[in-house]
Amino acid sequence: MGRTALVVGGARGIGLATAHELVKDGHRVAVTYRDSAPPPDIFAVRCDVADTASVDEAFARVERELSAVEIVVVAAGVTRDKLLMRMNDEDFADVLDTNLTGAFRVAKRASRAMVRARWGRLIFISSAVALRGEAGQANYAASKAGLIGFARSLTRELGSRNITANVVAPGYTETDMTASLTEDQREHMRSQVPLGRAAQPEEIAAAVSYVASDRAGYVSGAIIPVDGGAGMGH
Ligand code: NDP
Repeated sequence: MGRTALVVGGARGIGLATAHELVKDGHRVAVTYRDSAPPPDIFAVRCDVADTASVDEAFARVERELSAVEIVVVAAGVTRDKLLMRMNDEDFADVLDTNLTGAFRVAKRASRAMVRARWGRLIFISSAVALRGEAGQANYAASKAGLIGFARSLTRELGSRNITANVVAPGYTETDMTASLTEDQREHMRSQVPLGRAAQPEEIAAAVSYVASDRAGYVSGAIIPVDGGAGMGH
């Protein structure tokens, strides 16, 4: 029997591919959108992860329309790439607020019903950059590394309630986020990948599908790299 899943940041890119994969797995799936148009084929609710009330309202709508959320995937993320010398307080704080504090807001709201149900899957989309670091991405890498400590702490807090918390760490994936890079930058990223190509969003979604499943009931606090080998050794 399927479960109720919510993909936060699921209107495009990795989040949308994940939502489609979870539908294929037989789950009842909702996505959140903010600036993107909601996908035509999946139940969608508006949500800005930078706003606690908006997160609460999105969960309340999914609870009303579907049921309590049992699987939550946090795919919402932004970049604001700049070298440290040029990065101002806002560049740093805004990226942290969306990528890391946003995940906190979502997980906190999701955990209530999961604790009650004694079942839950918390899945955070981090990045290979979390472990490797990247010039020009100190804010982004810090936010994505923060997700690891966050998920591992939740594993310790919530594990006894049968709730798992895992991190999926994609490498260079073809989405809008990387389409804005120059061809030189993309070539540089490809050159660091042993498989010699970017990932497709569906390849990240496959890993999320696994940790969301009943089969992954004993996997928690894990970092699952899906990066064509780019992060090996980190
Ligand atoms: P996209 O830029 O295509 O999508 C970003 C998503 O985040 C959109 O769905 C967007 O929603 C959502 N989002 C951004 N800010 C907010 C916010 N404040 N509240 C709610 N939703 C928000 O990127 P990807 O699909 O590539 O990225 C998905 C995740 O994967 C991100 O966390 C990213 O950091 C991570 N990742 C991506 C990699 C890549 O190479 N592409 C590599 C490693 C990790 P909307 O459009 O509705 O505003």
